[in-house]
Amino acid sequence: MSKLIDTKPVIPHVAILTSSGMGHLQPSFRLAALLVNNNCRVTFVTTHPTVSLAESNSISSFLSAFPQIISKTLNLLPMDPTTTKMTDPFFLQWDAIRHSSHLLSPLLASSSPPLTALVTDVMIASTFVPATTDLTLPNYILFTSSAKMLSFLVCYPTILAAIESNKKSDHILSDATIHINDSLIIPTSCFPPPLFYPKQLFNTQFAANAKQMMRCDGILINSFEGLETESLEQLNGGNIINGLPPVIPIGPLSPCDFEQGPGLSWLDNQLDNSVVYVSFGSRTSMSREQILELGNGLLKSGTKFLWVVKDKKVDKDDNGGVEEVVGYEFIEKVKDKGLVVKTWVDQIGILSHRAVGGFVTHCGWNSVVEAALCGVPMLAWPQGSDQRINATVVESRGLGLWVKSWGWSWEEVVKAEEIGNKIRELMIDERFKIRTVHVKEEAMKADKNVGDLIN
Ligand code: UDP
Ligand code: UDP
Repeated sequence: MSKLIDTKPVIPHVAILTSSGMGHLQPSFRLAALLVNNNCRVTFVTTHPTVSLAESNSISSFLSAFPQIISKTLNLLPMDPTTTKMTDPFFLQWDAIRHSSHLLSPLLASSSPPLTALVTDVMIASTFVPATTDLTLPNYILFTSSAKMLSFLVCYPTILAAIESNKKSDHILSDATIHINDSLIIPTSCFPPPLFYPKQLFNTQFAANAKQMMRCDGILINSFEGLETESLEQLNGGNIINGLPPVIPIGPLSPCDFEQGPGLSWLDNQLDNSVVYVSFGSRTSMSREQILELGNGLLKSGTKFLWVVKDKKVDKDDNGGVEEVVGYEFIEKVKDKGLVVKTWVDQIGILSHRAVGGFVTHCGWNSVVEAALCGVPMLAWPQGSDQRINATVVESRGLGLWVKSWGWSWEEVVKAEEIGNKIRELMIDERFKIRTVHVKEEAMKADKNVGDLIN
């Protein structure tokens, strides 16, 4: 007798639980688009209110571009900001989202067709993964940084315990080296700086998220073989930590059509590979003093430039005109040498433009992957958070330069002369171009392994 086969079609239906900040939303949008293009239903949960205009604008554009996606809103419970010592509005928002995690299961319980999997952003994993166990669904975590950073994160509870048992003061030493194994050695100077204060919320959440990573069904990461071959192999080979769920590379995540901006005619008029693009992502602002030095450095580099200036961390507070920030005199000097803007730009559109030949970046992971996808060499200038760890990937893959002596954004002002010299070096060194073209080819070939989620 032939075996009975259940032929009832199961429509995969994945709920994506996002957090806050464009560096987290952008990969969530792109993952949702990838799933939709693979005949999967998607429910997309956003949180309300958002911190920045960039977030609310992009959520609206995303949902209009994908009417087939089911949108749900998690209305955040109000938080008392005085209960934490942190002032960063994005950190506070992640905390507010975590405190509203119990509202999620009721929001998703009646999904139709029934959900088949959940994908939770790493920032909210510590509370969202436990809060959704009653839904009895496979739960994947979307990790929005590098595989190198993931290696560090999953080892962090052990690192912290070792540091705690040895330390003689309240602070972690900033000049030590953490030896995880022979191919993963991380100087403490590369640690995300909030980790130096073990009792603060960032630190406790970081460790809690790390523990939660071990309990999920898989970790989706916006990286790929050709970019982080060794780290991915080590993670999946059990060399970093035993018992880690599968790390599934889904990068480089492709941009969606709705992200396209109006185009910049100024760029169209420039020669191939002649322009350096300068941007520090969606939530890094610079001191006025550093902005001044950077502007002069760009002029000294003798390279044409497209510079996105950011004066405030949150765009809603960033109301002044670009001239007020860089100075009228500077705008006078720039003339046809460059373009300075103070708006949201279509970064992928810029990086993929034939005229762009270099990228001065803070090394937010999305920016690094986008530059790799477009074959653009980078001058890594990490400003904070996971960016030094990401810069090690840029450096070790030969995708550009990293001047380690340039401190974190609050430590020192890097002088114009030095900035100009390094930009010149970036633009003329053929080795970076050769390496980035090679990695771009690898990026084009990379498999986006969403099979586990939708089968
Ligand atoms: N981005 C953009 N236009 C801007 C600023 C940022 O499209 O004017 C995008 C960028 O392409 C990337 C994301 O916002 O996808 C920023 O993420 P990243 O990890 O690079 O840095 P973060 O903003 O999280 O520090
Ligand atoms: N991270 C984490 N849990 C936390 C805080 C941070 O896992 O509670 C990791 C995560 O990989 C994140 C990185 O540390 O991408 C850097 O954190 P940051 O606060 O700078 O946020 P991001 O730059 O990713 O927006």
